Amino acid sequence: MKIILLGPPGAGKGTIAKLLTEYDGSVQISTGDILRAAVAAGTELGKQAEAAMSAGNLVTDELIMGIMEQRLQEGDCKNGYLLDGFPRTIPQAEALQVLLEKMGEKLDAVLELDIARDIIIGRLTTRRTCAQCGEIYNVISKPPKVEGVCDVCGSNEIVQRDDETEEAISNRLEVYQDQTAPLSDFYKNTGLLTSVMSSDKETVMTALGPKIG
Ligand code: AMP
Repeated sequence: MKIILLGPPGAGKGTIAKLLTEYDGSVQISTGDILRAAVAAGTELGKQAEAAMSAGNLVTDELIMGIMEQRLQEGDCKNGYLLDGFPRTIPQAEALQVLLEKMGEKLDAVLELDIARDIIIGRLTTRRTCAQCGEIYNVISKPPKVEGVCDVCGSNEIVQRDDETEEAISNRLEVYQDQTAPLSDFYKNTGLLTSVMSSDKETVMTALGPKIG
């Protein structure tokens, strides 16, 4: 399946993407993960993205489209993909349409996770990430089995991301309202949009059912 996951930071896009990859072998493509890996590796791309990311601002459309044009043509995308965190602006959505037309591909659905602001702030301020492997924890609902040690890779670098401080979160939510929320109408007009008010597995699968068969 080829799906866009739309929704503010902390809505649960990554969790739903992982769930859907298990369903039919589609790959999760998170532009945030790609950018964080580039920052960690100190590449040219990482250097260009770092300042905007730590402040909770978007990186440029040109940078993102450069990444996605390459990524969508890789072999593992042939079974489908779940776009997590892309597109995030109208110009990105328009550029994606042109790219998909060129590739002869069509999206199956755009799933919007419409989650209340207070839930999101609560989730993000308590979220922690393994700096080594990217595994996500939550100090309240999903702490690591051994405090401070990643269950997956054993690293003891479980950190709060720079862009998950209260100030950066509040900026990210504002950026979402201004630049990404308009995508909801954009995709409503294409007939692809399905909106759910919960990131619970059953709710999502029921809502997506008619689109993914
Ligand atoms: P995420 O993990 O999806 O919340 O992304 C983390 C950060 O990476 C965002 O706050 C942006 O700075 C940047 N980013 C990720 N995806 C995009 C995108 N599609 N367009 C612009 N910036 C992005």
